[in-house]
Amino acid sequence: MTDIERFRAELAEFLERELAGQLGELPPAGIADYWGGRKPELPHPQSRRYCELMAERGLTAPTWPKEYGGGGLDKEQAKVLLAELRRLRLPLPLIGFGLSMIGPTLLQFGTEDQRREHLPGIVRGEIRWAQGYSEPNAGSDLASLAASARIAGDDIVINGQKIWTSYADKADWMFGIFRTDTGGKKQEGITFLLLDMAQPGVEVRPIRLISGASPFCETFFSDARARTRDIIHGVGNGWTVAKALLGHERTMIGDVFGTGSRARNQAAGNPAVELAHDYLGVRDGRIADPVLRDRVAQLTMDERCFALTTQRAADSVKAGHKPGPESSIFKIYGTELNQRRHELMLALRGPQCLGWEGAGFDERELTQTRDWLRSRGNTIEGGTSEIQLNIIAKHVLALPD
Ligand SMILES: Cc1cc2nc3c(=O)[nH]c(=O)nc-3n(C[C@H](O)[C@H](O)[C@H](O)COP(=O)(O)OP(=O)(O)OC[C@H]3O[C@@H](n4cnc5c(N)ncnc54)[C@H](O)[C@@H]3O)c2cc1C
Repeated sequence: MTDIERFRAELAEFLERELAGQLGELPPAGIADYWGGRKPELPHPQSRRYCELMAERGLTAPTWPKEYGGGGLDKEQAKVLLAELRRLRLPLPLIGFGLSMIGPTLLQFGTEDQRREHLPGIVRGEIRWAQGYSEPNAGSDLASLAASARIAGDDIVINGQKIWTSYADKADWMFGIFRTDTGGKKQEGITFLLLDMAQPGVEVRPIRLISGASPFCETFFSDARARTRDIIHGVGNGWTVAKALLGHERTMIGDVFGTGSRARNQAAGNPAVELAHDYLGVRDGRIADPVLRDRVAQLTMDERCFALTTQRAADSVKAGHKPGPESSIFKIYGTELNQRRHELMLALRGPQCLGWEGAGFDERELTQTRDWLRSRGNTIEGGTSEIQLNIIAKHVLALPD
């Protein structure tokens, strides 16, 4: 037996026997994601315990070093883990901005003390994180941000406003960028820091969206406090950290809205083909409508190609390469692919595609309408498509201004 075969066998033993034995009923693939946090929402009664048991082995952050609670797995072992979860129809045990954004950034820029303090809580799903970047006058032009941070002894005093803060109403801590200096180039006076949101100086107001949901908020700071020891990479160096984190964010968004995590979190099968069979019928073993059959085939091929490409990129990240400006390529393609997927799902459902409420529509149809509306935001969040194209032109292709 090779090392990787032994690893697979031990992992299967753990997932199929130990975990199943301890939990009784395991959460199935396809349920909503588990985000953890101090006040977690449970998509399945066992979601929290499932996360805890996986975290005991570092399997919520499989490739992070063991000393910070990660699994210490190499890229081959991490792939085996995903394959086993898929085979057993288990969901990812935990997702969130801790795992996908601030964790990798702390591994890159955090001090040893900062890593030891913050990473284990992320791995165990104890702390849910929000991202405090955008402001009413600083979106694409992020370096124009004005929310201020003033150092006062061991504390930092924060004032101002952030906007579009996803899930701020559910988050425990925030990572964000704040202005510590107003002189010089706008990029130079920015400091990246972490702060506990459970304090009187932080007020969160949800924003209601076209889809009816409130996935993000306005966040107001009135003499809120952070600790100087939670400044990452030094005062005034926040722009470098912020850009690196955006690289991780864009890779994650491209992956999630492409096919990577989505496919990993779903049982096998092709939702578009299944939907086409249900709504259009089958003729001679094929989707009955030839035009929509073509579109399903095209989408399926594009999804597969993109999944393989993101996998190759993920392998290189795990091998030590940090995501750079090329992450914008994944962001743009993944989000546009997701929008195309939702447009196709609507076309397949025909007149059933635009229900909002009422007896004429089933639960899946109503969810589809909301998901389609939500997908419009994909090409804005994490930096708009126009900004990604600018980055690709300038920093990947080295085209002149
Ligand atoms: C679903 C969702 C979740 C989000 N979550 C968060 C979060 O958790 N935390 C956070 O901090 N922010 C979050 N955001 C905010 C997001 O990062 C910003 O909306 C985004 O960066 C765009 O900024 P803006 O909305 O101010 O638009 P603007 O910057 O005002 O842009 C308006 C339009 O002008 C275009 N434009 C602007 N500058 C240029 C240029 N130089 N060249 C070409 N075109 C340009 C843009 O592409 C866009 O079409 C989220 C947004 C969405 C939609």
